[in-house]
Amino acid sequence: MSDLLKNLISGDALASNFDESKASFNVQEALDEANRCLFCYDAPCITACPTGIDIPGFIKKIASGNMKGSATTIMEANPVGASCSRVCPTEELCEGACVLNNSTKPIPIGDLQRYATDWAIKNEEVLFQSGEKNGKHIAIVGSGPAGLSSARELARLGYEVTIYEAKSEPGGLDTFGIVPFRLPKDISLWEVEQIKQLGVEIKTNMEVGKDIYPEDLVENYDAVVLAIGMSKVPMIGIEGEEFEGIYDAIDLVERTKNGFYEEEFIGKRVAVIGAGNTAIDGATTSVRLGAQNVKIIYRRTEAEMTAYDFEYEFAKQDGVEFRWLTSPKRLISDEYGHVKQMECVRMELKEVGADGRPRPVEIKGSEFLMDVDIIVKAIGQTRHMNLIEGFGLEHNEGVVKIDQETFMTSNPKVYAAGDVIFGKGIGEAMVVSAAQQGKDTALSIHQRLKETTINNV
Ligand SMILES: Cc1cc2nc3c(=O)[nH]c(=O)nc-3n(C[C@H](O)[C@H](O)[C@H](O)COP(=O)(O)OP(=O)(O)OC[C@H]3O[C@@H](n4cnc5c(N)ncnc54)[C@H](O)[C@@H]3O)c2cc1C
Ligand code: SF4
Repeated sequence: MSDLLKNLISGDALASNFDESKASFNVQEALDEANRCLFCYDAPCITACPTGIDIPGFIKKIASGNMKGSATTIMEANPVGASCSRVCPTEELCEGACVLNNSTKPIPIGDLQRYATDWAIKNEEVLFQSGEKNGKHIAIVGSGPAGLSSARELARLGYEVTIYEAKSEPGGLDTFGIVPFRLPKDISLWEVEQIKQLGVEIKTNMEVGKDIYPEDLVENYDAVVLAIGMSKVPMIGIEGEEFEGIYDAIDLVERTKNGFYEEEFIGKRVAVIGAGNTAIDGATTSVRLGAQNVKIIYRRTEAEMTAYDFEYEFAKQDGVEFRWLTSPKRLISDEYGHVKQMECVRMELKEVGADGRPRPVEIKGSEFLMDVDIIVKAIGQTRHMNLIEGFGLEHNEGVVKIDQETFMTSNPKVYAAGDVIFGKGIGEAMVVSAAQQGKDTALSIHQRLKETTINNV
């Protein structure tokens, strides 16, 4: 029996299952690892980090005991560096490029980054100051990693920045979407505080398109940054989706981040539909909510799943089972309208489709029934179409079109960064890339507004 389930049975608070799962380094561990670094000239890890953190620089500062300097080096390059230390797929990024992969084992860059930023959080350090005001005003829609990073850079360049955020708390998916046992909410809210200290105003509970019109922002500000990310999990499109016991993975995680734990999961059989990071988070959350058995149902195979390797390993360690080449066909309910079975069909992979991946095709007559108590839907995210169209922006099925160098959209006053520009084979939905795009967007706006000022003199 897993410790997680024992916690429930022994009456421990369900909440303790959602505590951060990995401990931070202690001083000795941090020093031992920092002192293994070769401090390479032209370090490949810097190039592999989308935000270009001076990794040897921050590690050297840990080794010499300059903790504030270390945290500043990290956060300078990455305004959400504390979150990234916990959620970056480091084996594909910085650690994957470490030269020590060829001999011993890579430097645990993410863990050292966490050690340095945790120090800053514990010591309530304020790391940056705003620039001298230049009289220009920027509106940012969305306070996720992209919006916050853009705001931080613009405030340091002297702009008055107002962020409009639909939710009651800022931080985007770092605050409400990534599971608390990998990224506690407090970490993301500390990053938000760092940005507020620069004078950035964050108006929460302000949904652009409903509480304020897009055209008002475009008219009243010198530039607008659209950093609204993506939206809800879409409908699967099968019979029975309206039954009781069907959850949206992102909503489920958000509830746990806000301290609400669904007791319905205790002792139940859960099927999670999808195999990306959202599905893994939905599955590991279900385990922590006390589910007796959790299966991930995916119509392709392990080779095509989009979840990061470390997420996949994490789920396997949690006892999550995987059913490859399986697709849901319809849901069946009990007499009270609660889901009790899922009809599935086996799939086979055919030639590569337009999306560059093998096309899954049903094997006729292979239908079978699976007993389930709860379904967690995690088949990706829809787009904020209404708002994108409210701004009148060109897009490709909700992926906002930008100039790849300047991040300018089809409206020269509106820029876009983060998940809102991810998709159709462009980019990756990652916190660290959203952060870098936020920074790039800020610099691009600064460049254009500087030019406009000079031309108007
Ligand atoms: C379940 C899950 C797990 C993930 N795990 C990882 C991981 O482990 N590692 C990793 O690197 N990435 C992970 N990601 C991806 C990562 O979270 C995103 O790529 C990143 O958050 C994108 O940042 P963003 O700022 O573009 O958007 P978001 O973080 O989505 O922020 C957008 C913000 O805009 C706000 N908004 C939307 N519409 C409006 C409106 N009309 N008015 C005002 N505000 C609005 C939203 O409320 C939100 O706060 C995960 C994503 C999900 C869904
Ligand atoms: S931000 Fe992410 S990719 Fe960059 S150094 Fe830190 S952990 Fe590695």
